[in-house]
Amino acid sequence: MKVNFFGAAGMVTGSMHLVEAGDKRILLDCGMIQGGADEEARNAEPFPFDVAGIDALVVSHAHIDHTGRLPLLAARGYRGPIYTQQATAELLEVMLFDSASLQESDAKRSNRKRARGEPEAVPLYTREDVQKTMALVRPLPYHERTPLFPGIEVNLRDAGHILGSAIVELFADGRTLVFSGDLGPKGAPILRDPETPPAADLVLMESTYGNRNHKDRADTVRELGGILDDAWNGKGNILIPAFAVGRTQELLYWFARFWDEWKLSRWRIFIDSPMAAKVIRIYDRHHELFDDDARAVWKGTPNPFRLPNLHATESVDESMAINQIRNGAIVIAGNGMASGGRIVHHLRHNIGRREAHIVFVGYQAEGTLGRRLVNGAQWVRLFGEDHRVAAQCHTIGGLSAHTDQAGLLEWYSGIPRHPPVALVHGEDIAREALAGEIRERFGVVADLARPGMTREV
Ligand code: ZN
Repeated sequence: MKVNFFGAAGMVTGSMHLVEAGDKRILLDCGMIQGGADEEARNAEPFPFDVAGIDALVVSHAHIDHTGRLPLLAARGYRGPIYTQQATAELLEVMLFDSASLQESDAKRSNRKRARGEPEAVPLYTREDVQKTMALVRPLPYHERTPLFPGIEVNLRDAGHILGSAIVELFADGRTLVFSGDLGPKGAPILRDPETPPAADLVLMESTYGNRNHKDRADTVRELGGILDDAWNGKGNILIPAFAVGRTQELLYWFARFWDEWKLSRWRIFIDSPMAAKVIRIYDRHHELFDDDARAVWKGTPNPFRLPNLHATESVDESMAINQIRNGAIVIAGNGMASGGRIVHHLRHNIGRREAHIVFVGYQAEGTLGRRLVNGAQWVRLFGEDHRVAAQCHTIGGLSAHTDQAGLLEWYSGIPRHPPVALVHGEDIAREALAGEIRERFGVVADLARPGMTREV
């Protein structure tokens, strides 16, 4: 086998690697490049391979930076199978339709503003392309070695990152390639810990947090409880920008676990995201993928997805009605970096109130509203108006869905005979630090994958 590196080699988004095995070509992931406008414009470029030459795809998990260009691949003629875990297949449909709707509305908006003579903006792909993509999806369970072609097999193991996330094992010519996908942290709630593959001849390993370790989760959760108390005593609302998959479900888990201690029954809790509501229903259909602790919590009271004061708001009118509430509301809404979505409307109504609390539970990228608030901005511009930031902003750092440096090293150390490793999905600073640790502890030189680089398995 031979691996060709294209995306997420030297960056965190746009995951995509091409494996050649015999006369077959198998693509691992087909993710969207995310970031500033210049970076995102690269998504529309031609793929760095012949689309007609791809025989199969294997997708590690549903996050858009691993799946976001699948509809584009279908639009450009791909008609082969897309293998992925069963729950990922369900999440994929929600994520890709949402992504296509965003692409369509972005194109519409820029066409409204388009000057005479400027070319018409076209969406990167449409909902029709997503329909074509979904028809190609072949759901697989974990731990079922499946032939893709004669002599080439695939197996998925639990990566513990989001529901359905997988570590991909590819077998061909008596060799084994392991692609870590994104690895979750050990001991995180709801999902099982990432599995360790029993053998590998080459490991493609993520390195998002290759240079640092997370704050303790228990401390983080205590911090969250403290903010709830302060907000109640100060008679304010709590706004939590959160992405629909993973973080929203984890917050509901903690609310159920600390229901009495945090006196949650006195609050009104809103999930103001139609997408998050759909994702919650998918999580709820897959308790078989939960860890033992989560299954016990979901059997107890209150059930995290059925908290008695939990309201999932679908329509825009319902969402706007929340803005009338001056205190006692916890609003979880997308998007997670406050760079768009319903959360921005809630910020507009609360940001000027000293008694309001804004809680950031995820990574805030450079250039987003979330990052400016985390950095202590005094003024922000929302919908063309300047707003003074009087609300209290908090960063809760320890709820990551990615494992940290210690976790990555532990995972790698469990693979027998410490195979060669290529680091993907991390910025250089993170990958260099992780490569240094791997060299020191295991005497293995880890490659930093670069676009255009190839490796024999
Ligand atoms: Zn991910």
